[in-house]
Amino acid sequence: MYELNSKIRDLTPYKPLAGEYKIRLDANESFLPLPEDLKKAAADAVLSVPLNRYPDPTASALCRAFAARYDVPFENVAAGNGSDELISVIMQSFLMKGDAYAVVLPDFSMYNFYGYVSECRAVEIEKDGFWKIDVDKVIETCNNENVKLLIFSNPCNPTGQGLCREEVRRLIKGVRALVVLDEAYMDFWDETMLPEFAAYDNLLILKTCSKAFGLAALRVGFAVGDEKLVRAIKAVKSPYNVNSLSQAFAKCVLEDGDACDRAFSEIRASKAALETGLRALAEKYPAIEIRDSVTNFAVVKSEKAEAIFRYLLENSIAVRYFKNMSALRITAGTAEENEAVLAAIEKFFKT
Ligand code: PMP
Repeated sequence: MYELNSKIRDLTPYKPLAGEYKIRLDANESFLPLPEDLKKAAADAVLSVPLNRYPDPTASALCRAFAARYDVPFENVAAGNGSDELISVIMQSFLMKGDAYAVVLPDFSMYNFYGYVSECRAVEIEKDGFWKIDVDKVIETCNNENVKLLIFSNPCNPTGQGLCREEVRRLIKGVRALVVLDEAYMDFWDETMLPEFAAYDNLLILKTCSKAFGLAALRVGFAVGDEKLVRAIKAVKSPYNVNSLSQAFAKCVLEDGDACDRAFSEIRASKAALETGLRALAEKYPAIEIRDSVTNFAVVKSEKAEAIFRYLLENSIAVRYFKNMSALRITAGTAEENEAVLAAIEKFFKT
């Protein structure tokens, strides 16, 4: 009988929260539909895609649109099937079997997953009690442990915390490792390293269209860095990794700067409103504590987090519960969705 090897024997397929819920605030997606005229223009572009032909392997028009939007040279951009694929490609290619990579926990769980599949050694560095990164500790550990790749999200999913640019610079300069800086949520904050990526030959910045751009369904992400690094990603990735429909659709959206900017500020406003509502609840119910977040989600710390999570599910509201942080991560939604989650949490404490 065929036996799976020990590396994959106990793995289980990725399973998002199962079940039907009226309100889904569990995956940090955008709550905004695209403006009708933009949706129509993108749909027209998709209709003219020749389906009998393979996609452009370099996703050139898409990468040009991204490069123009973020004012980076086109040569320094690679596209992926979501930034998730890029994380996988980067960990497979910049690490050799047995090499050490570092994560700073709590952080996005896929880093450790891909590190494991790449048969590499995880060096896990803990954040402090407020989920802040201790830059000196990270530098010292990376250099002592001969870490070849350091990966972290900034702003961080799931903590919502941000590390300011000055500290990020210090980190990149302080380690010998390749630094993979995942800026999936940076469109909601203002400390991006993109304008100065060229100053570092050990830096890769990841971006995604899944959050602020509201295109999670398309699976489009980008890596930006030194040409040598980006060329290596392009050499390792599968040739036709981003399908033609996604390339054409995402290009149209990225080119509509005004629509994107409007969406970004609406999402920021929704997150601010959600946090204000949660803070008002925290005043009344000291069992919850609201941690500042610079992303599109709010973070609620509580010993009762699991019970609140279950109560919300019973009320058809899905959020994410993180046992390791005793916290809930609640994605900003429409005004009605935010009101509903706030009302349900209030009800939890009243009953
Ligand atoms: N990085 C971070 C920090 C994320 O939270 C996510 C999505 N949850 C991703 C990367 C992956 O995004 P995508 O593959 O949709 O681009």
